[in-house]
Amino acid sequence: MSRVFNFSPGPSVLPESVLKKAAAQMLDYEGSGQSVMEMSHRSAVFEKIIGDAESLLRELLDIPAHYKVLFLQGGAYLQFAMVPLNLLPEGGEADYIESGVWAAKAADEAEKYGAIHRAASSKDTNYSRIPPLPPPSARAAYYHITTNNTICGTRYTSLPETGGVPLVADMSSNILSQPLDIRRFGLVYAGAQKNLGPAGTTIVIVREDLLGRHRPLTPTMLRYDIHAENRSLYNTPPCYGIYIIMLVLQDIKNRGGLAAAYERNKEKAAILYDFLDRSKLFRGTARKEDRSLMNIPFVLPGEDLSAAFLKEAEAKGFVNLKGHRLVGGLRASIYNAMPAEGVKKLVELLEDFEARHAQGA
Ligand code: PMP
Repeated sequence: MSRVFNFSPGPSVLPESVLKKAAAQMLDYEGSGQSVMEMSHRSAVFEKIIGDAESLLRELLDIPAHYKVLFLQGGAYLQFAMVPLNLLPEGGEADYIESGVWAAKAADEAEKYGAIHRAASSKDTNYSRIPPLPPPSARAAYYHITTNNTICGTRYTSLPETGGVPLVADMSSNILSQPLDIRRFGLVYAGAQKNLGPAGTTIVIVREDLLGRHRPLTPTMLRYDIHAENRSLYNTPPCYGIYIIMLVLQDIKNRGGLAAAYERNKEKAAILYDFLDRSKLFRGTARKEDRSLMNIPFVLPGEDLSAAFLKEAEAKGFVNLKGHRLVGGLRASIYNAMPAEGVKKLVELLEDFEARHAQGA
């Protein structure tokens, strides 16, 4: 068996120990005689899996009792609609910070449901930075941010003060990468396929007082209150994905929780950023103060050189390093499960490529 170093932005690398455990439990989950894929979502054995996933998430993120944890489907993209359908009253307004491509998409989708105030944007610099954050506008029903911008590689290093206006965050690409004060938020959502598990599950953490504010026409399946009342078992949830998430959470806990994960993530990112800062050929594209620990975009002079690098990298077992199609260049996504060794080896590869191509750069 030979595994590659996978720098995919999502679905992404998972901890090898988790994959091994899932493989060992594939045919017979803990003596139940069934795979988790085959069991009823109403069985006691699955109830324990989803219960464990929730309590591990509560423990790791220190989620207080007045927040609900939901395991949903539809990806983060569906949250772009669910958030306004559940939190934005008819004729209401909401603030959105346009810090990246996904942040802009969230605002575009919400615009179908009300007046969206793009309170700040960094589009003019190709989303290379987090824009200065204004206070919430007077009529805002909520204030939406994207804590890590997957495509252009920036992250929030501090949160806006929103007073009584609920702060809503898309954390798809940095949830569980560092400790979080969940009390600062009204609602947090994240697609699973980066730091949590396989694609197909979306996690929502929502403060109880925000439930029940949905528009009358909101489809039943898109109501947070329905999922909260039914502990994510209103209909058939993405059972297998929830099980893998439970294993990933156990793994994070076993490795020292989020404080330890944050240290590892800072160290890993520094290995690559230090190289980019001293390189004469490769250049990081995000503003230094706002650089993401999860997604690191960088460029070479010219797409031909990028193509040559990607080909070489792939042949050596370094995959999914191509930048997003909207921005080009290269991007290394180094989520929780990427080992430090993968980043070190990537830097060796970059150094070697530079030594052969740097002339005149
Ligand atoms: N938000 C962010 C920050 C993302 O990175 C992505 C996907 N890369 C999405 C939303 C969309 O997520 P999904 O594909 O799960 O709908």
